[in-house]
Amino acid sequence: MTAVPTHCPYCALQCATTLHPVDRVQVSVQPRAIQAFEGGPTNRGGLCRKGWTAPEVLTVPDRLTTPLMRNAAGNLVAASWDEALDFVADRIRSLQASYGSDSVAVFGGGGLTNEKAYALGKFARVALRTANVDYNGRFCMSSAAAATNRAFGIDRGLPFPLADLGGAGVVLLVGSNLAETMPPAVAHLQSARDAGGLLVVDPRRTATAGLTADDAGIHLQATPGTDLALVLALTHVVLQEGLADTAYLSERTDDPEGLFRSTAAWWPERAERVTGVPAATIRRAARVLAAAAPVHGGDGVFILTGRGAEQHSKGTDTVTACINLALALGLPGRLGSGYGCITGQGNGQGGREHGQKADQLPGYRSISDPAARAHVARVWGVDPEDLPGPGKSAVELINALGTAGGPRALLVHGSNLLVSAPRLASVRERLAALDLLVVADVVPSETALLADVVFPVTQWAEEEGTMTSLEGRVLRRQAAIAPPGEVRSDLAVFAGLASRLGCGAAFSTDPAEVFEELRLASAGGKADYSGITWERIDAGEALFWPVPSPGHPGTPRLFADGFSTPDGRAHVVAVDHRPVADDLHAAAPMYLVTGRLLQHYQSGAQTRRVPELAAAEPEVFAEIHPRVAAQLGIADGRPMRLRTARGSMVLPARVTADVRPDTVFVPFHFGGSEAVNELTNDALDPVSRMPEFKACAVEVSAASLP
Ligand code: SF4
Repeated sequence: MTAVPTHCPYCALQCATTLHPVDRVQVSVQPRAIQAFEGGPTNRGGLCRKGWTAPEVLTVPDRLTTPLMRNAAGNLVAASWDEALDFVADRIRSLQASYGSDSVAVFGGGGLTNEKAYALGKFARVALRTANVDYNGRFCMSSAAAATNRAFGIDRGLPFPLADLGGAGVVLLVGSNLAETMPPAVAHLQSARDAGGLLVVDPRRTATAGLTADDAGIHLQATPGTDLALVLALTHVVLQEGLADTAYLSERTDDPEGLFRSTAAWWPERAERVTGVPAATIRRAARVLAAAAPVHGGDGVFILTGRGAEQHSKGTDTVTACINLALALGLPGRLGSGYGCITGQGNGQGGREHGQKADQLPGYRSISDPAARAHVARVWGVDPEDLPGPGKSAVELINALGTAGGPRALLVHGSNLLVSAPRLASVRERLAALDLLVVADVVPSETALLADVVFPVTQWAEEEGTMTSLEGRVLRRQAAIAPPGEVRSDLAVFAGLASRLGCGAAFSTDPAEVFEELRLASAGGKADYSGITWERIDAGEALFWPVPSPGHPGTPRLFADGFSTPDGRAHVVAVDHRPVADDLHAAAPMYLVTGRLLQHYQSGAQTRRVPELAAAEPEVFAEIHPRVAAQLGIADGRPMRLRTARGSMVLPARVTADVRPDTVFVPFHFGGSEAVNELTNDALDPVSRMPEFKACAVEVSAASLP
């Protein structure tokens, strides 16, 4: 049997693998060092345990292998594809006849291939003619996307290859736990650690923060929700101590004075009162950063943000503060330095480029831009006037489901809302109010189990397509085995429904054909894939978008000659600290923080089904500081109750000094009664519409087992 080169199904590092088919439905996996790009391939031939065990997801006992429809008794029972598609198409037609086109909504996912993400957006706009389409990337890196778009005029998670980190003197990680979410990426931090320059901002002493031990760097253990104040203070020190790259600021940014003004009041002692990080530590960190900056002859500085900085109601402004710090140090566009976002989901980058976002069309184009609408409409063979306008963002869409004037039907592809969305009681209520819920997935996720119709769809080792890594490098996903049972691609769902709805536009089920159309649709856009072919990728070319023509080598590094703004300068946006939306009060005096574990991926729908991973982290828990645990009479492993304004839950305590005394940490990968998003706040960032997963006030007490 042939060895098939492809990539891990999980995170945005997209580690390269080789699959060896074992039989018709099983594969074994080996790590693979892909064609090196200068400093080397992203994963350097490594895999984490999620990647090593990924083949097990292909054959989990409850793998969906046939369409399911809910019968009169309320049970999901097997159906044929024709029965299921006919039923869904009939319901859509009827609902749209009664309530209008926008009564049907579509929710996508950042794990879908580029081809599926593209087809999903086209299906929503052309076949359903609905404005209501968004995806779970809104919960992921949307704050970084919004911040980079307004500062640089473009959003590519890392505007440089990850391997560039390899020579840096300093890497500042703000709210990123790389050592658990992307373990092979830690190798790229070694140079900074050797120089004592790994700086980690995190309210927990995570595995990543632990890498700063032994003088390898500094852990800035800030109060949850105060990263913005901390970064303002770092920038203040850089500017006030004359450490900034003033020539860069005046030549490459639009408002150096604005940067000075917006940070002038954030002296370290003030920031200490807000963040809890000692003023002396803030000064030391700022000086370490500046010493490694190119303007001072250093080895380079990278500032990287993750979900810890971004999943806040001020996430966009926190990332903006990080970008402003990078500008003060003269980093973006300089070889060996820069700002970037560590995208999380497997195709979190490509997933936001091809039109499944409420406000965007393929090529990362604005749906409100007449020229963009005309271009995409031409490729799709429709009148631009017939394309809907911008729709509701994810949380706003969910909150509108089943309400007067809101969507009456929802089609979900590649997303498990009943674990991953905030304020789950409300999500459950809104889903239950729908006239039709359709879910396409590989396993019966918590959301699929609520559906009226479930479509069984292909997963990584069973399908062809492309994924775009956190670096903006477009990679090939290749099929090693045939899908089991009646499983089909999501593309078959879009094509089957579009034809039943009488849509004249073409919806191919061949991913190669879809990619060719995507190339045309993206041509001339910010994320221009028009010069990329599957053949070029298969030949080993390292293609980072934009690739605007067939002979173009790709663009590994952005901003060397200017930014993508109208004036070519980076735009300084003045930002200021503000409290979390649901801040501490007498009855709820601690912060609840959510996050990720080494063993699980996102909503855990896949990894909780892998025996080795489930055995290592079988259930949810809450980390609490020993001093607070003792005060509250909570022993390690014993039940504790968490109560927020959204609800309460009882879960076992994990007593550890790795969390701050004012903080409780709970991983979010678990469902049902273990889902911590029952407690989280859906207050939104005003720019990105990101909900505030990362901080809310919580009351903590000892509890007896339920
Ligand atoms: Fe690599 Fe991420 Fe897969 Fe782990 S989960 S093997 S880091 S792509």
